[in-house]
Amino acid sequence: MQKNESKLKKIEYEYDSQEYIILNKCPHCNLDIYPAVDKVEPLENKNFKIKVLSLTCPSCKKDYFIFNDFKEDIPYPEKYLFTIPKYGFTENLLVRNTTKKFQNLYTQSVNSELLGYNDIAFFGYIKSLEILVKDIAILEHPRAEDDILFSNLIACLEHFHSTNMHLFSKKLLEVLKNDYLHYQKSAEFYSYISLVKDCIDYFLLYMELLLKTFSLNDKRRQDA
Ligand SMILES: [Zn+2]
Repeated sequence: MQKNESKLKKIEYEYDSQEYIILNKCPHCNLDIYPAVDKVEPLENKNFKIKVLSLTCPSCKKDYFIFNDFKEDIPYPEKYLFTIPKYGFTENLLVRNTTKKFQNLYTQSVNSELLGYNDIAFFGYIKSLEILVKDIAILEHPRAEDDILFSNLIACLEHFHSTNMHLFSKKLLEVLKNDYLHYQKSAEFYSYISLVKDCIDYFLLYMELLLKTFSLNDKRRQDA
């Protein structure tokens, strides 16, 4: 099973007596890393004061760029702009088990959040969760595929994942049922985002265990 201890986050990074904001994971391989700086390139005009860090991942050895804006009126953590390449999951084992449809939307959601588009990220995470939950329900109940595809996320969770749902607070169902204007104005909005993300992480692990169980059962059948 993949080691998935730490969440993706922006962290402080000291280089040449300057503090940068970078990601704690490599955008190529998604592993927790402490990257090595290759060089820093400054870019400046009247409006922007950008520094581009060229970094190398100690694990996959691939290079990438992180852009920070050092303009005076940019407060922490908005100093972080983006990475090239964008954050991806090409080598993440848990995500590799999922459908392309899930991977595409989930990657877009993560990158939206990194860019600070939290509302779009929130919708993206909920829809990603829906795709994942339905994909798992179809794996477990292939004959019910049509019902699963035509039900909404809440119905699918309640009908096909009721045992898993016990692990989550009622809060998740509440968040899924509430409308955007209701929760968006509340101060707890960001904790709702992390609840949905935790739920995605849980179902990614659940899917991995399910696939392992299926392959063990197949092997046992072949050996018998
Ligand atoms: Zn890497």
